[in-house]
Amino acid sequence: MKSIRVRFAPSPTGPLHIGGIRTALYNYLLAKKYDGQFILRIEDTDQKRFVPGAVEYIREALEWSGIRPDEGYGYGGDKGPYKQSERQTVYRQYVQQLLDEGKAYYAFDTPGDLERLREKYQKQGKVFTYNHEVRHSLNNALSLSPEEVNAKLKSGEPYTVRFKIPEGKTLVLNDLIRGEITINTSELDDKVIMKSDGLPTYHLANIVDDHLMEITHVIRGEEWLPSLPLHILLYEAFGWEPPRFAHLPLILKPQGKGKLSKRDGAKGGFPVFPLAWTDPQTGETLSGYREEGYLPQAFINMLALLGWNPGDEREIFTIDELIDAFDLSHINKSGARFDPGKARWIQQQHFQRLPKAEMLEYVLPVLEEKTGLHLRGKKMREYVEKVLEMVRERLVFPADIWEWASFFFEAPKTFNPKAVKKQWKSQTPEMLSGLRNVLANIDPWEAGHIKEKVGAWIQEKELGFGKVLQPLRIALTGDLKGPDLFQTTELLGRDEVLKRIDFALEKLS
Ligand code: GLU
Repeated sequence: MKSIRVRFAPSPTGPLHIGGIRTALYNYLLAKKYDGQFILRIEDTDQKRFVPGAVEYIREALEWSGIRPDEGYGYGGDKGPYKQSERQTVYRQYVQQLLDEGKAYYAFDTPGDLERLREKYQKQGKVFTYNHEVRHSLNNALSLSPEEVNAKLKSGEPYTVRFKIPEGKTLVLNDLIRGEITINTSELDDKVIMKSDGLPTYHLANIVDDHLMEITHVIRGEEWLPSLPLHILLYEAFGWEPPRFAHLPLILKPQGKGKLSKRDGAKGGFPVFPLAWTDPQTGETLSGYREEGYLPQAFINMLALLGWNPGDEREIFTIDELIDAFDLSHINKSGARFDPGKARWIQQQHFQRLPKAEMLEYVLPVLEEKTGLHLRGKKMREYVEKVLEMVRERLVFPADIWEWASFFFEAPKTFNPKAVKKQWKSQTPEMLSGLRNVLANIDPWEAGHIKEKVGAWIQEKELGFGKVLQPLRIALTGDLKGPDLFQTTELLGRDEVLKRIDFALEKLS
């Protein structure tokens, strides 16, 4: 069997939408599953739509996601160049072949001519299509004599090259996801395959490259399905065996109809891009999964399930498990609804599974930024490790550490008014002063021992645990939530605990 070769072929027209990364991922998974190659090809023949920084963005997004190409633009390989703007001579040669064989023709219709035709048809309630019905009456090599064509070419008159769709043929196409699709070629138009600037259009460049790069499977978004008949006809025209095709379902909005857009992300407060992107024209920055604190493995896991299922109940996968489980036959035909809550849940599962040391590496930069402290020294690092051990179960994103553990690094300056209203009563100051004296004399300063001594004192004074411990928690953390209170007390240290009690008594009494 031929080894599998797949490609991701983005056009650098802006940041990659998560749908683009999902396409790359499915290609990657198939390649890895069968020991094949995953290739990155940059499709930049449409120079008008080129956006600076987009190619770098694509590469960085793939690298961050962990779906690294084996070959392609920036990755080497012997079938390059892998950027279409560097392959112009290749395309010209194949366009010439089709011209010589009468399978394509020169067309001299100007954009103005075509616009007028479109308007004329529109007035009659019809749609103008450049096809087998009209091509013989238009300004092209099918209606002009060879001498006239030569004269035009010699004089430098601008032209495009159009593919001559064979008429009246029934095409039976096979899509690995959608099955058989039958179409009559008379429904198709004679697409431009080379533009007046001498550059090929997407269609020609795409199939020439897939052929020359020996691509075995084309896995791409559903929006390319209407182009499939043309692509198959181009393969036939060249006498090449086409690759197999799989068109992926759309990613739909969380609610309502239509595909997931940039605006849905802004509205719902979730990113639709892998990495943040600053528009070079407007300066506007759109957030990315990386910047929101998603782990690459969670991001990939979430994307994998948008349109594919393993055929069983599993939902959490490492990349290796995905490679193992992946299969084109379990890709759905219908659109995949994006669920921001599910994305978050998957992130939580992956974050919770991180080994201690790795989780620490994620939270350290957050804490360093918030506190302005250097936390990598042995002592501070150990302190952070203990803090993390106490709150780790509550974290979904690295940045959550601050919500749950800021008081381990900064004494509260204010107290949550709701908590105070609920738990700080008129007798609290007196009680807390009494507790302060108990704490001042506890030795050794260790959670179990503190608990025992404080417990005994509460019982002796017949005070009730909540009445004493809740105000203590407010004094130490500023709020009513947090990890085990006695462990917190131990970790903060006696001096700090007494200081915080004094401050709360002064502020709240
Ligand atoms: N350049 C096309 C895109 O941007 C690639 C389509 C294909 O994979 O054939 O989506």
